[in-house]
Amino acid sequence: MSNPLAVLPLGVEETREVFEGIGTLGEGIFYLLALTSTAVFAWGSWRRIKKYRRGRAAGRFRSRKSREVPVDEVRPSAVPAGAATTNGSANSHVVDATAAAHSLVALAANSTVRKRDRAAGVAHFLVFWGFITLFIGTVILTIDYDIVRNATNALGQERSFFKGAFYLGYSVILDTMGFAAVLGMLYLIWRRAFGHKAALDYTRAEKPEGGYSRDEFVKGDWLFLGLLFALLVTGFLLEGFRIRASGFPSFEVWSPVGWLVARVVRVVGIGTGGADDVRIAMWWTHAVMAMGFVAYIPFSKAMHMLTDAANVVAFDPASARRLHAPRSGADHIGYRTLDDFTWKELLDLDSCTKCGRCHVACPATASGAPLSPRDFILDLRQWADESTGGHTFLDGERRPTTTGPLANGDVRVAGDVIKIETLWSCTTCMACVEACPVGIEHVSTIVELRRSLVDEGAMEPTLQSALQNLAQQGNSFGKSSRMRARWTKELDFEIPDARTTPVRYLWFVGDFAAFDDRLQELSRTLARILHDAGVDFGLLYEGEWNSGNDVRRVGEEGLFEMLVEHNVAAFESASFDEIFTTDPHSLNTLRNEYPEFGLDKPVRHYTEVLADLLESGAIPTRPLDSRVTYHDPCYLARYNGVTDPPRRVLQALGCDLVEMPRNKDNTFCCGAGGGRIWMDDSGLEERPSENRIREAAELDVERFVVACPKDFTMYTDAAKTTGHDSRLQVVDVIQLVDEARVTANLVVTE
Ligand code: SF4
Ligand code: SF4
Repeated sequence: MSNPLAVLPLGVEETREVFEGIGTLGEGIFYLLALTSTAVFAWGSWRRIKKYRRGRAAGRFRSRKSREVPVDEVRPSAVPAGAATTNGSANSHVVDATAAAHSLVALAANSTVRKRDRAAGVAHFLVFWGFITLFIGTVILTIDYDIVRNATNALGQERSFFKGAFYLGYSVILDTMGFAAVLGMLYLIWRRAFGHKAALDYTRAEKPEGGYSRDEFVKGDWLFLGLLFALLVTGFLLEGFRIRASGFPSFEVWSPVGWLVARVVRVVGIGTGGADDVRIAMWWTHAVMAMGFVAYIPFSKAMHMLTDAANVVAFDPASARRLHAPRSGADHIGYRTLDDFTWKELLDLDSCTKCGRCHVACPATASGAPLSPRDFILDLRQWADESTGGHTFLDGERRPTTTGPLANGDVRVAGDVIKIETLWSCTTCMACVEACPVGIEHVSTIVELRRSLVDEGAMEPTLQSALQNLAQQGNSFGKSSRMRARWTKELDFEIPDARTTPVRYLWFVGDFAAFDDRLQELSRTLARILHDAGVDFGLLYEGEWNSGNDVRRVGEEGLFEMLVEHNVAAFESASFDEIFTTDPHSLNTLRNEYPEFGLDKPVRHYTEVLADLLESGAIPTRPLDSRVTYHDPCYLARYNGVTDPPRRVLQALGCDLVEMPRNKDNTFCCGAGGGRIWMDDSGLEERPSENRIREAAELDVERFVVACPKDFTMYTDAAKTTGHDSRLQVVDVIQLVDEARVTANLVVTE
């Protein structure tokens, strides 16, 4: 090919020759390589798409039918994508234009990547936009060279828009964005090499006997980072040697980084001839590396560049909050084999970048339980890859299956690919989903696998006994339902029965606050506060059964539906305007899952009611001189976005609130959720509640405030077992209100 623009004197139109010095044969080889790498990319991508196509429908793109729940009412700070949510029938999350727009904005801003690690998020943002700009630049060049020039050449007068002002603007933008990507890459490389990040430690949570290597993960990460960095560096070197070889035409100052490199090349004594030789070698190095990278994408960590965008758009922020009913028509309950997975769940597996944010947020992992949400996803990914006939390049060694295939040759996922004890270790706290920057829905998949374990009776005896109690008595304590309201007997007033007396509020007490000896006094205190404040409230008495929130998360869907049907019938027999509950777990299912079964009343947490009463002056108080920290319950803060009302109560009481590092939607689980309260936790290295008490003990506070009956029990015990009970008092919000209220009454009396 002719080379008319090899050296441009000043005043010659600003541009550069794409294949300068490469020759016709070289150009042919280049196009052959480009075709091959594109074909490998297309084949690898199709292989992945085929995998997702074998998944069942996920219902993400159906038309919207159900009642909407405003996003900001749900999880205000953590809706990375698929932002619109629905409340109602199973599989009712849909991605419409608004949800897709929210997702695309989150993607463009990299907001989910910044959420838990600002520095990594900013670096990722620079790399993300740097490479997008370079990719667009390559496409523009291809359009000019292969389409515009060829087409106009065929018409007898070759034309190009890759020159003049366009070329100068193009040069400065690509140089700047490429340099930004270099800076981002340098930080990411430094962080991985010297940052000692726990999130990037690939040691398995389940501590396998004999061990098995995760070295391939590390190699895969470094190969990916190394290739990206090498692409940027060779691109700038190529540019620098080209500018040096062409004798520094003045317009090339519009490629500032290349210009700087060219100056360095001249300073080290390389002349124009030598620079041109190196330029050609660099041209081929850069081109082969770029084409190799394109071919490598669908077989490596680089595939997250494609899968994550789709996964974030299809993400259902309500996937854990509002579980789907098991699909009808199957010959088994829950997920038994890979064929039971939806396409979204299969896409989740390929979207994991191994960032480890879920791993470090998980209370099960922290407590030494054999569960890491990251390992859970990666084990499933490796199994899915092997089952679908492909393996991701450098993606670690899979844990060997344990029990062998089913009769038809399929491998059981629960108990074989993923250990049974791993699945039962989950507290369904949702910290993993909240932390994940790419919209992976761990909790709903874990529950589907638990459903199959429950179906086969593969559960701990203590859990089995709790479920039997729930089935027979409607409560996990195994007590007669007539005992449910026994705690009210010691009150000197009678709480109305909402089934016979219309009331404004129906108090859904929950099992623990009703049956646990240590918690009954708290319930009575709240009743007195509300009574004295003139609140019109009532109970369902023996008509209330366990709400079923944890039963559903254990995977016992049949029992969940039985409990719901009973409670909904009780609600229908009563007359009330709103429900409030003492139990955040009950709040979650009543608010998000019961509407599907016919409940259409607002559901509030008792701290919401107390905050309103305090702020309206209905509860007279005087300031408490107390320095406190507050623990956000997972099901209240992370699941339902209720973080302000308890803080409003503390503020109204004049408490000096010191926040723990993990607060609000980044709260840490007490370890009781997802049915774990019915299971043995004696084998844990450190209970999650003990971990949390240690966190609070680091602060200069005298009280650890909770707003959940289970939390009161868990943390009172943890304060004792960690030896912090003498200086850190565990109190419920109710006790603080009562303390301030009693104090106020005393002042009046005095
Ligand atoms: S829900 Fe909580 S306990 Fe379960 S895997 Fe996720 S972070 Fe771990
Ligand atoms: S599941 Fe999400 S948070 Fe966890 S390692 Fe993978 S990408 Fe990171």
